[in-house]
Amino acid sequence: MTKKDKSLSHAFEPGRQADFIVEYLNGSDRPPDDPVERWIVLEGHHLREWTGESNYRDEIVKFLNDMFSRPGFGWRRVATSIGNYYDIKSQLNLERPLSPAEAKPIPAFNAALELFSLGLLDRIRRCAHEECSKWFYAKLAYQRFHSDECRSAALAADPGRKQRRAKYMRENRRTKKNLALARKKGGKKP
Ligand SMILES: [Zn+2]
Repeated sequence: MTKKDKSLSHAFEPGRQADFIVEYLNGSDRPPDDPVERWIVLEGHHLREWTGESNYRDEIVKFLNDMFSRPGFGWRRVATSIGNYYDIKSQLNLERPLSPAEAKPIPAFNAALELFSLGLLDRIRRCAHEECSKWFYAKLAYQRFHSDECRSAALAADPGRKQRRAKYMRENRRTKKNLALARKKGGKKP
């Protein structure tokens, strides 16, 4: 199957991978230096805190290469004999047995790799309402809160919000009025 076929097949749904990662991140028994969380946090910094001078690219590259060299996270090619011939396969690098704590992040890490290949890894975010801070999958690029409740609660707690809202309403009324006037003037058009 070519890469193109794969992206068209139903087996490659970002939602499924995302739900899996979110469930994992919101779970309780993750290792303290969880590589899945580390990668997603770095990806978020890299994309959203771009200053034009420095970024997190080099740190992410180093981190990923370190991960790929770990047993259970990286793949290697292995040649095997089959009857009179031989075959070459890619195998998970398992040079030593993994402890349950080491093995735990692997499925979520693999799901993160798939989401990355779709350019959607940064959509895994933490709810910006501090009292919540749940992990969620942002269906929209600008989404910062995991629910409407968290959005309302965070905005209600923001002291500058009332003034900004009042200003917006004022300008919105003015715009609507101007639009109505413009419509009236041009009202003879078919
Ligand atoms: Zn929330």
